[in-house]
Amino acid sequence: MAITPPRCPVCGGARVEPDRFGPGGVVFSSTVLRVPVASRPAPVVFTYIDVDDGPRVLTKVADATAALTPGQRVRFRGPDEFGDVSVEVIG
Ligand SMILES: [Zn+2]
Repeated sequence: MAITPPRCPVCGGARVEPDRFGPGGVVFSSTVLRVPVASRPAPVVFTYIDVDDGPRVLTKVADATAALTPGQRVRFRGPDEFGDVSVEVIG
């Protein structure tokens, strides 16, 4: 799978700089995808996370089969076996 370089969400420009957030955040919303996508076995739990002092991002939830509850605390983990960033519930 080709990885595309990051782009500015406003103008589409390629001149962007990395930033650091987290490693924690709070669940904004969550859902369960029950069909396999791009070689990932189902189910996959996707969750929008409001990152501490950062943006709202969409990520996978590690080792989960049910949607999370808004307000739950999570922590980012390193890339999983598919190279996807995921979070784990910490409270
Ligand atoms: Zn821009």
